[in-house]
Amino acid sequence: MRDSLPATIRRAVARHEARIRAFTAALIAVPTENPPGTKYRECARLIANQLKALSLPAEVLRVPQSYSASAGPSEPRWCVLSSLGKGRHTLYFHGHYDVVPAAHPRQFHPVVKNGVLAGRGSADMKGGIAVMIFAMAVIKELRLPLDGHIGLVLVPDEETGGAGGSRYLLETGRLGRDGIAMFTPEPTSGLIWNACRGAISMRVAVRGKPAHVGLHFRGVNAFERAIEVVQAFEMLKRRVARRQTRFALAPAAARRSVLLVGGQAAGGTNFNAVPAEFSFTVDRRINPEESLAREKDALLAVVERFRRRGFRVHAEIFQEEPAAGFSANEPVALAMAESARAITGRAPRIEMCPGLLEIRYYAERGVPAFAFGPGKLEVAHGPSESIVLENVYEFAAIYALAAARILAPKSGA
Ligand SMILES: [Zn+2]
Repeated sequence: MRDSLPATIRRAVARHEARIRAFTAALIAVPTENPPGTKYRECARLIANQLKALSLPAEVLRVPQSYSASAGPSEPRWCVLSSLGKGRHTLYFHGHYDVVPAAHPRQFHPVVKNGVLAGRGSADMKGGIAVMIFAMAVIKELRLPLDGHIGLVLVPDEETGGAGGSRYLLETGRLGRDGIAMFTPEPTSGLIWNACRGAISMRVAVRGKPAHVGLHFRGVNAFERAIEVVQAFEMLKRRVARRQTRFALAPAAARRSVLLVGGQAAGGTNFNAVPAEFSFTVDRRINPEESLAREKDALLAVVERFRRRGFRVHAEIFQEEPAAGFSANEPVALAMAESARAITGRAPRIEMCPGLLEIRYYAERGVPAFAFGPGKLEVAHGPSESIVLENVYEFAAIYALAAARILAPKSGA
């Protein structure tokens, strides 16, 4: 019997394929653009209705306004929770229903062509939401025994740091409680991601004194001063780039720790005036082996050095997120990889994600967390985002099989 479980699960998913496709398309049609975070309530309601239609519980939580990322007024944030099974141990299925802004309004009109569903969020990660919900539905239908339960957590605000979603759940003690593992179906292009970088992103503003070009000697050139500050960050960059992560990541150059200067730069008013201000961004992406606090201090020390020399320079940190990493030999990750092999015939490689992932929130609770999803990173956030529907169906079966194996009751217990 046990040998046929993958086939049984895949057949059960096949009976839901039309519903999976329709639900994913319906999710894409709700423009949950973030920033600023729109139509969240409508999307949360759509998800809750789908859960109820599959006889799964749905709890829709309103997030207090104080957790909103933006300072001004914004639409309320909503989290959707569900569960399947009994017992304390929880295997988390985690996802986000916000999407990055569309490149054009047509992206909110989902189109299916040759088995490919196109639309904003198809890969990142509304297809993934369908994967998790229908994986739970299939486990329930097949009455697969679970020792513990699956906890479904769907949040908004992931694309802007997670304040109104995962951060709120973490700070109120609801995130990762009794967790034995977490999986999130981000678009991983066929890989399992077991780690992600952290980020310290800041804007450095250098002030001078304005003057007409003819009276330049009365001014202080903020651009020229900024060049000196930039050079100091470039020195730091050379030191930082010598550090390489031990986590798997290809090509080898991608393993170096990252400091990017000048992603954005601005200043001055015209060619014939001494610029009074020049600002530029510094984006530091730390490897899981590096300390967020220490690397932040190193960045601020550069600014402080110039301040002591009399420069009017100011740094504003607008993003600060820790890195996270788990062993590629964690039994739950291997169980997921083996489930993928059983369904598709291919075992995924386990690597580090080059960007940020919400696994960092679960890492804070000590819960091993991994990303693995049906979309491709290359199309996520792009103008022609799409997903291969067959991959969505396969992943629903993979998630169901992995959960059934990870939560399988021990015989004789
Ligand atoms: Zn995502």
